[in-house]
Amino acid sequence: MTVGRFAPSPSGRIHLGNILCSLLAWLSARRKGGRVVLRIEDLDTARCPRRYADQMEEDLRWLGLDWDEGPSVGGPDGPYYQSERTALYQAALDRLKAMGLVYPCFCTRAELHAASAPHREDGQVIYAGTCRNLTAEQAAERARQRAPALRLRVPDEAWAFTDGHMGPYRENLARDCGDFLLRRSDGMFAYQLAVVVDDAAMGVTEVVRGADLLDSTPRQLYLYHLLDLPAPSFIHFPLLLDANGRRLSKRNADAGLDDLRDRATAAEILGKLAYLAGFNPSAEPKTAAELLPDFDWDKVPGADIRIPEGLF
Ligand code: GLU
Repeated sequence: MTVGRFAPSPSGRIHLGNILCSLLAWLSARRKGGRVVLRIEDLDTARCPRRYADQMEEDLRWLGLDWDEGPSVGGPDGPYYQSERTALYQAALDRLKAMGLVYPCFCTRAELHAASAPHREDGQVIYAGTCRNLTAEQAAERARQRAPALRLRVPDEAWAFTDGHMGPYRENLARDCGDFLLRRSDGMFAYQLAVVVDDAAMGVTEVVRGADLLDSTPRQLYLYHLLDLPAPSFIHFPLLLDANGRRLSKRNADAGLDDLRDRATAAEILGKLAYLAGFNPSAEPKTAAELLPDFDWDKVPGADIRIPEGLF
């Protein structure tokens, strides 16, 4: 049985990109007769207050996207808020520690950027390995000054997988990514660890998300491997861009549902999004249920999708 999921980070009102993501995850799972889980990714509790999560649930319902397990419907694999699942992340971290793969990192943000490490295309710093080989004494000394973050030691190995939409993808963990964070210095667990623990614990078999997370997948597959957990299949879809070719963000108010909901029905919004994403022959209104029979990943383009000025 296919189990898909919505995994929103409620740091603001849902925008068109999040809506397309939820719609595709829903269609992809439901088309196969599968189930859908809603998990609220509120690890950053300061940025993700509960009222945003509640609003997001309400918005998803208004859009006609339903789910079988989640915060207000319950289910066997709860709690469904990441902020309430930290004991599970700690247990996974302890397993990785026991394998000798975790080390404390004392680098400040300024030090990370100053180290002559290369940057990824998306601007993230590839960790230079500054704290990788500290002795126990050095680490203890530094821990007196500053609480460390925790990083996973990655091998100089390629991790490859075939994305369900984007095709083959590979990354060398050491060269293209570097030792990555498992827990920040303030104690907040990293997305990469939490998402793997949760998707596995919730029996998710299919992850549908934007192509901006494609390059997170090798890291996540490496964690599945280390933790001996079954990995789901991954389907990454092209990003939505505004009329100027910029990525949508929660700061981009035009794309937020708060003002859209006042002037459009759910079917109008979904019909237009589905048209842009190739699975509605015209921009005519369609409910999620009406889009279901003809949904096929082959219709969805591979390149980013620009929203024409004035469409919404
Ligand atoms: N919570 C993430 C987001 O809203 C999605 C993570 C994922 O799909 O793996 O961007």
